[in-house]
Amino acid sequence: MGLWVIGHECGHQAFSDYPRLNDTIGFFLHTGMLAPYFSWKYSHRRHHSNTASLDNDESFVPKRKSSLNSSARILNTPPGRLFRLMILCTLGWLLYICFNVSGRKYEKFANHFDPKSPIYGDRERFQILLTDIGLLVTRYGLYKVALAQGFTWLVLIYFCPLVIIYGFLVVITWLHHTHRSLPHYDSSEWDWLRGALSTIDRDYGILNMVLHHITNTHVAHHLVFTIPHYHAMEATKAIKPILGEYYQFDDTPIIKAMWREATECFFVEADKGEDSLKGVYWFNNKI
Ligand SMILES: [Zn+2]
Repeated sequence: MGLWVIGHECGHQAFSDYPRLNDTIGFFLHTGMLAPYFSWKYSHRRHHSNTASLDNDESFVPKRKSSLNSSARILNTPPGRLFRLMILCTLGWLLYICFNVSGRKYEKFANHFDPKSPIYGDRERFQILLTDIGLLVTRYGLYKVALAQGFTWLVLIYFCPLVIIYGFLVVITWLHHTHRSLPHYDSSEWDWLRGALSTIDRDYGILNMVLHHITNTHVAHHLVFTIPHYHAMEATKAIKPILGEYYQFDDTPIIKAMWREATECFFVEADKGEDSLKGVYWFNNKI
């Protein structure tokens, strides 16, 4: 998890003052974990530039009530919820990088490995190719390790921890952006600061430390993404009194929070009521 966090910081140029050093370290760390370093760096950067925008955010874009399909009623039942959570924890990361599931809607198929993917601009395409080559080399290396040590060894020492890490990362990120109190905006109302403040810090108990406090410092991370994780607690402490009620925190135990958010945050719908706010959307689950 620490290696992942450092790779993420390299992508934000938060690891060192030297962009080339950041990209080199980040590339090796993430590629070694079978993550597409440059591809995700760019999509993640766009997530930071468009947080909580229903039209332009890159990941965990909630569905509008109007775009729900016939499976929605089934997925909105307790077994459906359990199914969604299980998929999120196990395949969530793969579904996102391979098929852009829950990502921004593009005119054509988008994924993190295709240099021609609509996620990327022309200047980024070469680095997507570089990412693919790095992943192929890693795969070949893993094949060689499997031949030397045995496949079971590789699964236990490498793939099992990887599955756990990606499971955690997806849950952590999803919970940072999914809560009844977090609004989403369409293009008429969205602006960067509103989006950055539409994030919430969580409390994972003892795991906060194990997860390098990415869990309870996400609001600060969205405001200033060049702060490295080892200063994020200090930064969070400093921004809390400035943000006041705009700082969002929920200490509900994580398993309970996962079930609650899967229940309550099924889709978003436009703000209602007498003084309804145009362009502002809230989570709901009443189909
Ligand atoms: Zn980030």
